Amino acid sequence: MTNTQTPERSELPSLKRYAATINIPGYLPMADELAFESATDAWSYLASERERAEDDTDETGEYSVTVVTLLALANGRALPEGASCMVDDDHIGSVYGDTPGYDGSHDLGLTYSVTVALDLSAYADDVVKGYAVAMLWANAVCDVEDCEDREAGSDCEHVNHAHGTYSMDDFSPEDQHRLRADCYAMMMSTDDEEQDGQDFLAYCDARPILGRRAASHFGHDFALTRNHHGAGYWDRGLGALGDRLTANAHPFGESSVYVTEDGVSLS
Ligand SMILES: [Zn+2]
Repeated sequence: MTNTQTPERSELPSLKRYAATINIPGYLPMADELAFESATDAWSYLASERERAEDDTDETGEYSVTVVTLLALANGRALPEGASCMVDDDHIGSVYGDTPGYDGSHDLGLTYSVTVALDLSAYADDVVKGYAVAMLWANAVCDVEDCEDREAGSDCEHVNHAHGTYSMDDFSPEDQHRLRADCYAMMMSTDDEEQDGQDFLAYCDARPILGRRAASHFGHDFALTRNHHGAGYWDRGLGALGDRLTANAHPFGESSVYVTEDGVSLS
């Protein structure tokens, strides 16, 4: 990837969620794992927790280097001198600090960690591909001006051959971005924020087909469901999961592919 990326491209919904935890080494986490949309959001949360802990002690003066380190990670600034941490280039890792207010000589200290809690990016291309094919196959509309059959409905040759003639690559960059953005949002969709992405994983587990093909079917079913075709998430024998995915797909609204003399475009 180079800097030729369009601005819109960087605004694709994130397919990752990050967890923030506070640990005493050797003990169970003190804070519940919370899911954040970015690593910096997770570090911000940890920085504010640490600030609050230091505010609650009677010690006066400036915040510790631990707070400054956490804030640096939250704001993309350079790490301060004396920072005790291990983080990779994606800002995943841990910051180590002493225990605020502890005067004894056996301070185990605290570990503030940000980890990747969910990463669906390995599935993304398969979902989008399955979606694009189904859009061309089931949601194509003839827009060829001199087509004699187009008034008769959707049975002309342009529509019938759309998925054999065209692929994802034949859409404009803007349309490709929209196909991708809708798929990403659907992959993460849920009726419970804590469960982002879990319905997608449950769908892939429940289908009697293997991983990448299941992901492609997820995209295929998205194209059918949002356009109210006679098949989709709800009729795959998935029970409540299928109903939930259907309910999450409908708000995207219908979307068609126009087949023209020159190519294809999204409605
Ligand atoms: Zn036609």
